[in-house]
Parts: sequence; C-alpha cells; structure tokens
Amino acid sequence: MVRQRQAFFLAVSARRLVFLASVFICCFCLGALLGAFELLGGSFALLKGLGRPATGSGPGQPVLELPPGPLANGVLKDLLIVLDPGHGGADRGVCHFPDDLIEKEINLDMANRVRAVLEAAGARVLLTRADDVFLSLDDRARAANEAGAHLFLSLHVNRIPGHPECFGAQTFYFPGSTQGERLASIIQEELIKVDPENYRDPLPGSYRVLRLTTMPGALVEIGFMTNARDRELIATEAYRDRIARAIAAGVARYVAEQGLTAGKDQTPS
Ligand SMILES: [Zn+2]
Repeated sequence: MVRQRQAFFLAVSARRLVFLASVFICCFCLGALLGAFELLGGSFALLKGLGRPATGSGPGQPVLELPPGPLANGVLKDLLIVLDPGHGGADRGVCHFPDDLIEKEINLDMANRVRAVLEAAGARVLLTRADDVFLSLDDRARAANEAGAHLFLSLHVNRIPGHPECFGAQTFYFPGSTQGERLASIIQEELIKVDPENYRDPLPGSYRVLRLTTMPGALVEIGFMTNARDRELIATEAYRDRIARAIAAGVARYVAEQGLTAGKDQTPS
C-alpha cells in the first residue's frame, strides 16, 4: 500500500513536472515569437520609412524630416496656428489658364503643405477652409479669433498687371502692427533663402483679414501669376514644398524669438 502510494505520488509528481515544463516551454516560445515579431515589425517599419515620427504626423503618414533649428526644437509645440488659403468657390483669385494655374487651388495646396510641416513640428493647425468653398474675409478672421489662434497666416498668389518683370514671394503685415511686421520680416528672410534672386522686402498692406484678426498675422504672396518665371516655379511640387518649409521655418523662428508658448496669453498685434 505504502509502495503503491509512493508510486502514485511519484507518478503525480512526474506528471506535474511534465506539465510545469510544458508551461515553461510554451511561455518561452511565445516570448521568443513576440520578440521576433517586434524585431521584424521594427525592421519593416524602418525599411518602409514609416517608423513613428518623433512629433507630428499620425501613423501611416510619411515622416517629415525637419531641418535643424527652431522647427525641430519643439518651439511650436501645441501652439495654434490658423492658415487661411485665400479665395475659394466662385472666387478663383488670379488665374493663368494656359498653365492651368488657379489661385484658389494653389492657396489650398500651399496651406496643406505648410500645415504638414507645422504639425510635424508639434503645432496645432486650423485651416479657414479645407475645401473649395467661398468664405468672406470677415468669416476667416472670425474663425481665427474664435479659435484663439496664436498666429494667423493668409496665403495668396500675387499679380501686377502690366509688369510681367516683377517676380518673387513677398510677405505683408498690417500697418502699425509691430508683431505682424516682425513675423512678416522673418518669413520674408526665409523666403529669400529659397530664392536668393528675390529682392522683395516685407511691406505693410491694409488687408482686411489682418485688420480683423486679433493675433499677430501676416499675408504671404508666394509669387507673381503675371511673371513667367514665377509661374514656372509655382507649377512645381518642389518649389511649393520649399516655400511651405520656408514659411514654417519663419513661423518657428518668430515664435522662438518672441518666446511664445501655448500657455501664454497673446498681446493683440
Ligand atoms: Zn489672392
């Protein structure tokens, strides 16, 4: 009986040992598999260039590499920037139909490009219009004021009828706004880095959207529709991207210089 009981205990212990060993092996294998998946996943993400970015764009979006400087230093974190693509709907803005260039479309495309860079740098961005719709100037300014934006930027394409020789991107500020003037000056400096032949200075301009908005703002004309050289540039993705990055770099430099942070109340411009 004792022997039988011992045999029974031995058998039970052996079964328990086998069971415990199986559990241990299963756990080990599962851990190894998970580890392998993690490694493979990381490698695939790296290969595709779709690894999670440090800031900004969401999963599945390509990583936007930011140039060294204020843009990459997180100075824009959580600041709210309103971008205003000029015109829209029945208001097409300036057009050059032989080149299929329509200002309202270019402005919206530029706003999306600037938005991508600003968001990658940690800013929150609102567009006054995300589609081809008409919005009054008052509605655009109201949207920025009600959102409590820290900065406002209106995007346009310029023209000077009768002066096809005039070229270059140019930034405007509301007359008398010292903050607007500083913002416009810094953006203009960045724009000139894109095109060193550009001789344009920032200028005061009595634009209604700048007058009605309560935060520092500027209006950027990315080039002249009446100039063949600018039309050729504006038609390319590469130029639009470089201008968008220059505008965003100007915004970041201004924010760094002024020490703006998301928590601070803004002084009216
Ligand atoms: Zn315009």
